[in-house]
Amino acid sequence: MASVQLCAGIRSSHSPMDFGAPCLRGASFSAYFAPGLSSFRSVDASLALCQASNRFLTIKAAANGRISSHQNGRHSRTRLDDGSSTKYFDFLVIGSGVAGLRYALDVAKFGSVAIITKSEPQESNTRYAQGGVSAVLDPSDSVENHMRDTIVAGAFLCDEETVEVVCREGPERVKELMAFGASFDHSEDGQLHLAREGGHSHHRIVHTADMTGREIERALLTAVKNNASISIFEHHFALDLLTHEDGNTITCHGLDTLNVRTKEVVRFISAVTLLATGGAGHIYPSTTNPLVATGDGVAMGHRAQAVISNMEFVQFHPTALADDGLPIKPKSRENAFLITEAVRGAGGKLFNMARERFMPLYDARGELAPRDVVARSIDDQLKKNNEKFVYLDISHKPAGEVLGHFPNIARECLKCGLDITKEPIPVVPAAHYMCGGIQTGLSGQTSIEGLYAAGEVTCTGLHGANRLASNSLLEALVFAQRAVNPSKDHFQRVQGSYRAVDEAREWTRPLESTAILEDSQMEEIRKFTAVQRKSLQQIMWNFVGIVRSTERLEIAQRRLEELETSWQDHLFRHGWKPNMVDLEVCEMRNLICVARVVVRSALSRRESRGLHYTTDYPDLVESRRLPTVLIPAYWNSGLVNRLSTGSVSSRAVKTTQEFQPKTPVQA
Ligand SMILES: Cc1cc2nc3c(=O)[nH]c(=O)nc-3n(C[C@H](O)[C@H](O)[C@H](O)COP(=O)(O)OP(=O)(O)OC[C@H]3O[C@@H](n4cnc5c(N)ncnc54)[C@H](O)[C@@H]3O)c2cc1C
Repeated sequence: MASVQLCAGIRSSHSPMDFGAPCLRGASFSAYFAPGLSSFRSVDASLALCQASNRFLTIKAAANGRISSHQNGRHSRTRLDDGSSTKYFDFLVIGSGVAGLRYALDVAKFGSVAIITKSEPQESNTRYAQGGVSAVLDPSDSVENHMRDTIVAGAFLCDEETVEVVCREGPERVKELMAFGASFDHSEDGQLHLAREGGHSHHRIVHTADMTGREIERALLTAVKNNASISIFEHHFALDLLTHEDGNTITCHGLDTLNVRTKEVVRFISAVTLLATGGAGHIYPSTTNPLVATGDGVAMGHRAQAVISNMEFVQFHPTALADDGLPIKPKSRENAFLITEAVRGAGGKLFNMARERFMPLYDARGELAPRDVVARSIDDQLKKNNEKFVYLDISHKPAGEVLGHFPNIARECLKCGLDITKEPIPVVPAAHYMCGGIQTGLSGQTSIEGLYAAGEVTCTGLHGANRLASNSLLEALVFAQRAVNPSKDHFQRVQGSYRAVDEAREWTRPLESTAILEDSQMEEIRKFTAVQRKSLQQIMWNFVGIVRSTERLEIAQRRLEELETSWQDHLFRHGWKPNMVDLEVCEMRNLICVARVVVRSALSRRESRGLHYTTDYPDLVESRRLPTVLIPAYWNSGLVNRLSTGSVSSRAVKTTQEFQPKTPVQA
């Protein structure tokens, strides 16, 4: 077994955990490092995380098909005689949210680009963003103010260099969005209207009423559709990255996908791949994220042995609409409807059922405290009073102002019989944002050659232990742009050779399951998978929620392991084969993987910091102010170097006098 190595490049003699990595080529990995390594229980444990996933895609089924190829000018394509096909693109982008689209528009200047997206192109977390993008655009504001707010919200776990880069480059990225055609609200003086949100000391949120994400997605998607170098492959579900291991280097050569409409397995070979698959809200039953957010990118990265960080920091948005409290109950929703932070920024106040305003009891900043504080405070109120929701009231503000700023929220509530200009809004916390993810350096580089990442799927070091409102669209924009030059350089290095990869020999080609299984078998597998998916979400909600404890996390860990085993047993009893693929099954595999990584990461943090609050270790511990990093067994100094240009790992340990840690509010 390889030794566990600290992310800052220090070796340790502890034995690693063997994850029994289920990547396409069956390579083994991985070690696990977390803050306070010497006392980190999981280092001693021989836990096979995602172990059961080993049963997928580990058997090599040789693709014996005859290969023929043709060019269509922009990219080439080979078709195998079993009906599956291979496409060749210079740049491959997985995800059509803000990160993927923004990156695609830039790299399209250098070569052909394929955007892979699992649903309709616009379906993404981006589309649902309400509040806006934070950027220092007001003369009375400063980059230092934005940095301070980000670092305070992040409970001092942020990487300062990353924070500075994002806050400094943000305004330029926002202006570029406008050049792409995004239309933001302006004040009467003709300047951009800047809103204020919780945790921000200044007005700096650029927005389009309360539908900012929709406008950004619209503008970028229009630009993409008008770009002849970019092809969008919608309803293509990314299955796994195609990686090649050579000594200490793992290189990404593309991706296998499942066309969920035609049921064709389509392979993409590329010089450069960008992972921009967004979040993982659906590891919880109640989330503001759309159905596409199932953590596929993190799970794919994990299987491909990418370094992953800070997965314990799951952000629960304090104020999702509580359907239970609405006069007219909506039909069951796929995702919770968000009541943006900006409502509190505009003066909205939180009350419990007894109409007592409770936030000042928890934090001097009241309703403008960061999200983790507000979510924990609401959670505490709900538990203490045994109630299902609290109220967010904006009805004391002039109706015109409320309707002007929050037309979408007003409309949605009115559909359910609630007039927000006259009545308070019932709200409850819901899973919202994943602060952890694939670790990147300052150029969006990952630990895998040829693989870059941007957006919510990443851990860049910006958010630390808690994301500041409206910083995620900003992070996605900044890192999508920063990944462009290194991607171009990598492309130019491999331009002449990347198509020559012998893909049929190198990677087992997955089989679409329904083509082989009887309808009744597939129906049973899907039915059982749907039930197990709900069970997984419930385990996460009950045991890995806003307030945690070691005992409850260990219960979750055990139950997730059992669930994974029984689910897979069921599949294989019903004819499933290791190299089969199916949308629901593959999503479930990814959800399990991400849920287990969250639990392991949470167990490893023996302190309460930001979004991770545990009753067993209720205080901040300065010596544990380190990221939680999942590293593969082949981790070595070369990898450290690769990530060290702006990595979380190399700098988050730095203590800065200016941003002194303080004790978190205890719920
Ligand atoms: C309700 C809501 C409100 C929000 N409000 C704000 C806000 O006001 N300000 C802010 O800064 N942030 C906000 N956020 C967060 C922000 O919207 C996201 O973090 C950001 O949009 C992420 O962008 P992204 O490009 O990384 O991912 P996304 O926009 O989620 O895009 C991911 C893409 O990847 C695709 N994909 C995923 N898995 C696969 C797969 N296996 N195969 C193929 N394609 C795949 C998806 O279909 C999607 O196209 C909000 C989020 C939500 C849910």
